[in-house]
Amino acid sequence: MDLVTVTELHRPRERADVHAALLGGATPLAGGTALHGERHEHLSGLVDLLDLGWPDVEALDDGVEGGAGLRVGATATLRTVLDHPLTAPIRPFLHDAFSCLLASWKIWSRGTWGGNLCAALPAGAGTAAACTLGAVAEIWTPGGSTRMLPATGFVTGPGTTALAPGEVLRALRIPASSLRARYAVRRHSLVPSGRSGSLVTGRLDRDGRLTLVVTAAVPAPEVLVWDRPPTPAEAAEAVRALPHWYSDPQGDPRWRRHVAGVAAAAVVEELVGELVGEPADEVSPGSHGRKESR
Ligand SMILES: Cc1cc2nc3c(=O)[nH]c(=O)nc-3n(C[C@H](O)[C@H](O)[C@H](O)COP(=O)(O)OP(=O)(O)OC[C@H]3O[C@@H](n4cnc5c(N)ncnc54)[C@H](O)[C@@H]3O)c2cc1C
Repeated sequence: MDLVTVTELHRPRERADVHAALLGGATPLAGGTALHGERHEHLSGLVDLLDLGWPDVEALDDGVEGGAGLRVGATATLRTVLDHPLTAPIRPFLHDAFSCLLASWKIWSRGTWGGNLCAALPAGAGTAAACTLGAVAEIWTPGGSTRMLPATGFVTGPGTTALAPGEVLRALRIPASSLRARYAVRRHSLVPSGRSGSLVTGRLDRDGRLTLVVTAAVPAPEVLVWDRPPTPAEAAEAVRALPHWYSDPQGDPRWRRHVAGVAAAAVVEELVGELVGEPADEVSPGSHGRKESR
């Protein structure tokens, strides 16, 4: 869809050009699949972030729990992230998560992971993936500083993020420990090929810590963490106790609350079930979840 109100396209050469254009009222443009997918009649100018040539995926030896984590450039497309050799340990999870987008292979080849977080749709499966991986958003602020924000606090509501005026998402940092974890994904939608009405993703760390992330059913990502895996029933109960449920044509809030509980139980069952036959100290179900504050 043409953006008919746009009269200026900024082609930044360096970082300062980006902040200057944004503070002047322009909007960041990455793959453009969300920007061109709907009417945006308030836009007057765009800043093309792809011109900055950010590396797609880099190994990052930042000392986070030992070993190399990953730094994924915000402009890396979903396809590039999936196919990159460095993401091989988490490829099955990323594939399952990105498959929850109502988007074809054409969008995967153009839409960026960073753009998915910045679009801040409740059904943002890229947001779900980043939160589940324990990623940290690297944000460029005007004036030349960089601030770090857990991905779980990046999307603040439907269409809103924690980015302040003039800021830009530069990268997602994935800790090394998340490359060794286990993952499970459960999605519900009213029709098989419809936009997600509920998405529950889970991560089980090697020390038994279990994280559940609820998106699509809620206005902004909700994160629940247990030091030891809960039982499926405990997980379902904890998820259904979340306070806010989203309402839009993709599903009634009561249905979303119900299926998110079903999904939470299934995710825990899959994660813990996979551990059968492994050392007992890795599985000891039954503890109270805590809601991670954003
Ligand atoms: C058919 C179709 C189906 C889709 N299905 C889904 C879906 O199920 N769920 C979903 O979430 N999305 C969906 N989308 C929307 C979109 O494709 C994805 O969200 C995609 O990941 C957006 O990435 P992009 O690079 O194209 O973002 P863009 O369209 O370039 O940008 C999206 C928004 O983020 C801002 N932005 C982008 N990058 C940055 C950055 N680095 N820093 C600051 N701001 C930035 C832009 O200003 C804009 O507001 C769909 C789109 C289409 C066309």
